[in-house]
Amino acid sequence: MSDLRRVCVFCGSSKGEDPQYAAAARAMGQALAANGIELVYGGGAVGLMGIVADAVMAAGGRVTGVIPRGLFRREVSHDAITQLHETATMHERKALMYELSDAFVAMPGGIGTMEELFETLTWAQLGLHAKPIGVLNVNGFYQPLLGLLEQMQRSGFVKQRHIEHIVADHDPVRLLATLAASKPSG
Ligand code: AMP
Repeated sequence: MSDLRRVCVFCGSSKGEDPQYAAAARAMGQALAANGIELVYGGGAVGLMGIVADAVMAAGGRVTGVIPRGLFRREVSHDAITQLHETATMHERKALMYELSDAFVAMPGGIGTMEELFETLTWAQLGLHAKPIGVLNVNGFYQPLLGLLEQMQRSGFVKQRHIEHIVADHDPVRLLATLAASKPSG
């Protein structure tokens, strides 16, 4: 997985009801650190965001957080990560997260996570980047969304080539390996 230097992870600022979501976030953090891949994420200490960041740090990995100045309360940003970038706006934050990263992974999350995932998909569709995009499909969490994307394709709103590259896997190690293999060289 040497081609993946930094992976941007989008995930819930909540933990979710079922402990399997937290377990999956820990497993993702451990997989990143074990493969020498730096985590780029929203910089929060809460929910799955905090869990994945803590897991990478605990396993001796590197974590870069990108958080909008003043938008989230001070105590919510994570102060025990490798580096924390503060941006002026939410848009700058996302632009920096995208720029820093070689691939994107969405773990289970809420509206913020979906917005970030769909923005990366939109930018890929417009040809603004060709970075691989994956979803960590913990216990089928992403099945309804993958079904909706297929429905959009069948209904003529989305082209097959714009969704067929999305990697879905419940296993973080295999997900990262597939993303590494699908990264365009250069
Ligand atoms: P949600 O899925 O609605 O919980 O939103 C999570 C996503 O929105 C994360 O990937 C973050 O980029 C961003 N976000 C939401 N809440 C926070 C927070 N308290 N601190 C930092 N980022 C956050």
